[in-house]
This record gives sequence, C-alpha cells and structure tokens, in this order.
Amino acid sequence: MILIFLGPPGSGKGTQAKRLMSHRSWPQLSTGDMLRASISKGSALGMEAKKYMDQGHLVPDLVVVGMIAERIQEPDCRSGFILDGFPRTLPQAKSLDVMLAARNLSVDVVVEFQIKDSELLGRLSGRRTCSKCGTLYHIHTSPPQVSGICDVCGSDVIQRADDQESVIQKRLKVYHELTAPLVRFYSEQGKLRAIDASVSMAAVDVSVHDALGIA
Ligand code: ADP
Ligand code: ZN
Repeated sequence: MILIFLGPPGSGKGTQAKRLMSHRSWPQLSTGDMLRASISKGSALGMEAKKYMDQGHLVPDLVVVGMIAERIQEPDCRSGFILDGFPRTLPQAKSLDVMLAARNLSVDVVVEFQIKDSELLGRLSGRRTCSKCGTLYHIHTSPPQVSGICDVCGSDVIQRADDQESVIQKRLKVYHELTAPLVRFYSEQGKLRAIDASVSMAAVDVSVHDALGIA
C-alpha cells in the first residue's frame, strides 16, 4: 500500500501518519522530518535546506526527490509506506510516478486533509515540537506535562522557526499556489479521497481508516 497524505501545514497529516504507522507496518516518510534531521546533523544539505525552510519556501524539487528515491529503497518500505509532506509540487508528483513505475509500483490512495486557513493559523502558531523526536504539542490543546520538556524523550520542546506567524502566512500561500494543484492531478487519476480535517484527532482518525477501507 503506497499512500500519500496531502494537506496544508497544520492539517494534522503528520499526526495521522504517525498513528497509522504505529498500527501497520508502513513507515511514515516525512520530507520535513528528514530535512530537519539533516539540519540537526549540520550536513551541507541541511544547511542549504534551512535557508528555504526558515522563510516558508519549498526546498528545491531535486533535493527532496533525491531523498525520497533513496529512502523508498530501504527494506522497511517493502510492504508499503505513507508519504507525508511529499509530493508538494507537480514536478515532484510526476517524478514520484516515474520512480515508482520503474519498480512496477504506483500510488494507491491519496488522502486529502481539508481545512480552512483560518483554523490553521491558530493550530500552527500554538504548535510546539520536540527538538529531538519530533513529537508535536500545542500550547492550549495538548501541552507537554512539564512545560518545555518532551513527555516522550525528555528533550527540549521548541517552536519551529517556520511556525512563527509571519512565516505561517507564507507557507499557506505556497501551499495554495504549488501544492493544491496536486488535488486535481490525483483526482484525475481516480486516487483522491477527501476528508474533513477540522474535527477532533479521533474523528479524523476514523475518516482516514474509512478513506483507506481498513479497520
Ligand atoms: P508542514 O507540513 O507543517 O509545513 P513539514 O515538516 O512537512 O511541515 O515541512 C516543513 C518545510 O520543509 C516546508 O515548509 C518546506 O520548506 C520543507 N519541505 C518539506 N517537504 C518538502 C517537499 N516535499 N518539497 C519541498 N520542500 C519541502
Ligand atoms: Zn521528544
């Protein structure tokens, strides 16, 4: 099963991909997490990507396509995977189709997380992230037990540079311009399943399972 979770920043696709991964044997492949891992390591790729990310711009297609092409060859991807935050542009989507076709594979289902921009602003500006394991928190709706400390691994919980209000606006604009066209692309392939992402996490979880036709 090859799945794509498509939706604007803050729509909850990362959270749902992690939940689904813990029930199934499909790894969650998040290009955002991979890029942040490169930044923490201080690699050349990470330093280059950071310039784009901090400003809410997309990292060049070639960079992320290369990362995904390598990642899907690993053994844990054999029975399927969940793409979270990739593809984000039409060229990325077309490259993905080509790299999958070369291995006789194709995308099975694209779940589109639908939610209004006004809802996303509140979610993203209150969002906090563990600097080490990536666990997500929200200052109002799901704070860590001890302020600033991750419940899971004990590392510092921080606000991502790109979760600042000025950058959030930019990311939403980029989403509508460059990523939203993928809705049509996958709908024409008959693969799109739209869900309402503005409801509770548990309710979204149910919609995701329904959309995939799994229990
Ligand atoms: P969110 O979905 O909340 O915006 P991500 O962690 O998925 O967060 O992405 C953070 C940033 O990483 C993006 O704003 C972008 O700069 C970069 N990025 C992640 N995935 C891609 C991608 N597929 N193509 C280009 N840039 C990407
Ligand atoms: Zn942590």
